[in-house]
Amino acid sequence: MNIQSFIPPQRTLMGPGPSDVSARVLSALARPTIGHLDPLFVGMMDEVKALLQYAFQTKNEFTIALSAPGSAGMEACFVNLVSPGDSVVVCRNGVFGQRMVENVTRLGATAIVVDCEWGRAVDPQMLEQTLAHHPEAKFVAFVHAETSTGALSDAKALCEIAHKFDCLTIVDAVTSLGGVELKVDEWGIDAIYSGSQKCLSCVPGISPISFNDKAVAVIKNRTVPVQSWFLDQSLVMAYWSGEGKRSYHHTAPVNSLYALHESLVMLKNEGLENSWERHATLHAELAKGLKGLGIEFIVPENERLPQLNSVFIPEGVDDAAVRNYLLAHYNLEIGAGLGQFAGKAWRIGLMGFTARYENVALCLAALEDALK
Ligand code: PLP
Repeated sequence: MNIQSFIPPQRTLMGPGPSDVSARVLSALARPTIGHLDPLFVGMMDEVKALLQYAFQTKNEFTIALSAPGSAGMEACFVNLVSPGDSVVVCRNGVFGQRMVENVTRLGATAIVVDCEWGRAVDPQMLEQTLAHHPEAKFVAFVHAETSTGALSDAKALCEIAHKFDCLTIVDAVTSLGGVELKVDEWGIDAIYSGSQKCLSCVPGISPISFNDKAVAVIKNRTVPVQSWFLDQSLVMAYWSGEGKRSYHHTAPVNSLYALHESLVMLKNEGLENSWERHATLHAELAKGLKGLGIEFIVPENERLPQLNSVFIPEGVDDAAVRNYLLAHYNLEIGAGLGQFAGKAWRIGLMGFTARYENVALCLAALEDALK
């Protein structure tokens, strides 16, 4: 076997993630690797933390970048906060809500599922009714931006309801962070996780997470140890703490953290509100063009994610053939449907660095050609 270097093509990534990574972020990745306990690297980690606090709009001291993908961020929230026997209300309106349910049950806890329609936001009234019937519930978990359907839920309203019933909130912001309004402190989100590869347009494999004091207190007061050594945040806290007593926990993905730092600097320079607005504006452009092609959205207009456009595949069109055509002729990736929408939908991402006018124009022209 004569195996050579792997040279991938230059694609335009308009699927559900990863999104396009800018040359600026890729070049940060190629900087010299230094030791992960090198004082210069430690200083950079402090900056990553401050930049993540900005991105999440939080003052939470425990705000870090977990060395693992979004699914590990999800798992970190559940394994640290939930103990066997606890009851957790999980709002399920897509694939990632279901993944939350699996996290809860695998922990020996009880998932009380609020089953909402796929392709719609989580219904706050259904959450309220469920909580009224389940005084034993300790947590409410939901996905802010359901990537499997393209629906955006009202995180602020859901957190308000959860707190009325004395529940802590666990929020999935993998696709929402940087792409739509998200205010961790103002909305009272207790634990949140995201991913590097969506609207931050960094390389995949890192999960920003943030816990407020109430969530940290739950971890500190646990009587049952966290079942996962790697994800036990009481051990990771010392690694990320800024008090000069940083100690080895695991070897951080040094170069990926350079890349995350760079992508967060780019977000800070653009400004969060400007980033949210850019996503909204380009979504409106894309929606206008798709309408012109006779392509219909799955999600009602006021519940749509600008960064993930889920649309019905037109009658009689071969799903895979079109996606393969876009890849082969335009180097353009769009996403297939997932779960209930497998084979029925396309998911067109406009996340982070991908969310540029030229990509909207490319996607519309390529789709028009493919559907001829
Ligand atoms: N949650 C949501 C809403 C997601 O979209 C994803 C990934 O697409 C995940 C969790 C899991 O993230 P990862 O694939 O980085 O493990």
